[in-house]
Amino acid sequence: MGNAFNQEEMNKLTAENPLINELVSTQELFWMNPSYKHFQQGIKQAPLGEKDIIEAENRLLRFAPYIKKAFPETKEMNGIIESPIKEIQALQQHLEEMYSEKLYGKWLLKCDHDLPISGSIKARGGIYEVLKHAEELAVQYGLLGIEDDYSLLDSKRFKEFYSKYAISVGSTGNLGLSIGIIGAKLGFKVTVHMSADAKKWKKELLRSKGVNVVEYESDYSKAVNQGRIESEKDPLCYFIDDENSQHLFVGYAVAALRLKNQLESLKIKVDSDHPLFVYLPCGVGGGPGGVAFGLKLIYEDHVHAFFAEPTHSPGMLLGMLTGLHDKISVQDIGIDNITAADGLAVGRPSGFVGKTMEHFLSGCFTVSDHSLYKLLYKMAVKENIFLEPSALAGVFGPVQLFKTTEGKEYIQYQKLQHRMKNATHIVWATGGGMVPKAEMEEYMKAGFSEMEKM
Ligand SMILES: *Cc1c(COP(=O)(O)O)cnc(C)c1O
Repeated sequence: MGNAFNQEEMNKLTAENPLINELVSTQELFWMNPSYKHFQQGIKQAPLGEKDIIEAENRLLRFAPYIKKAFPETKEMNGIIESPIKEIQALQQHLEEMYSEKLYGKWLLKCDHDLPISGSIKARGGIYEVLKHAEELAVQYGLLGIEDDYSLLDSKRFKEFYSKYAISVGSTGNLGLSIGIIGAKLGFKVTVHMSADAKKWKKELLRSKGVNVVEYESDYSKAVNQGRIESEKDPLCYFIDDENSQHLFVGYAVAALRLKNQLESLKIKVDSDHPLFVYLPCGVGGGPGGVAFGLKLIYEDHVHAFFAEPTHSPGMLLGMLTGLHDKISVQDIGIDNITAADGLAVGRPSGFVGKTMEHFLSGCFTVSDHSLYKLLYKMAVKENIFLEPSALAGVFGPVQLFKTTEGKEYIQYQKLQHRMKNATHIVWATGGGMVPKAEMEEYMKAGFSEMEKM
């Protein structure tokens, strides 16, 4: 791939944004977003709002009877795909010792690795967009009215109808898994374009469900592009565009409405005296962007959202920092985009998400593979929770907030020094629920050997 910038342009960019040098060195860092604005100011330019998210929530409610019937594991939840939140005090205490830093506030884990159907945050946006498409087709052809009981979609008649249509997507693994599982269940012909990072077991699982998996030797951006090109050739093929999709985004954002209820039932306050911090692992940006956007709509200035990226894939940070969004990739500055956090191995961020979140995001931080494995191991030992490497990225957030100069600056800038003991920190655990046992044992071994190196 040719470099998008010549030396002179690169020198200028680096002179304007000296942090690029630190990104290139792949050290762990914390970045406060200088474009952050008060919510009421930022929301004026936002392309989406509350009504879009409520519409998505209502659509998911319409589909609940179908989900309940087609995926018996959702029966208890009445067909609502949602995950629990869980206090992780043992890990918090352990990390205080490990990093010799007082880590104030209550720590909660949002357990999206426990989401039914596909065991990752992609069970939100990915499944939502497929359902939306399925609904539109069925309504358009007079097979379905929005007042109907959608469990009728779990039938031969509907499967035959959907079998005429195709869905395609590019993915590092988990998005493909979500879309493949729900798409195939409805009856669609699904093609997943998988980047080189995608794990073998994910491809095998999809093939076992009749999904067409196309493998690429290159990274995520290439897999998405190929998927886009291939699906443009087929008028009956619907392409789910992870880099630009507003539907994925609002599907993810529904999490915020659900989380609000969960916090209320735990009697956890969020207001000017009780700040809420959220740490979200970020790949292309749709998942963390959607969730953070939804939370901003609810809690406005009282929620502080941070994205977590691997030190070798800080695409969103680079795009936000330079203001170039999807016009720049980590490869352009000489970073390899190779990380154990396969779900986050995205070198070029979504321009749509970067621009939408420009005034809402509090900051980004980076995490090394070394830290991810260490945290994976600690999470397992201290909390008995087993996650995939990507899903640990958020855990490093509160550590960096309290430990780094930039993190401390953020707390001061927001005048929160005296309120941090009342804070709630939500670490978003984005995946791992479907990782086979043998794979998890390998992760644990890697985590253990990272501990030995300390
Ligand atoms: C996809 C994914 C993310 C990030 O979501 P994006 O929409 O790509 O930013 C985080 N964690 C896991 C486990 C994922 O699969």
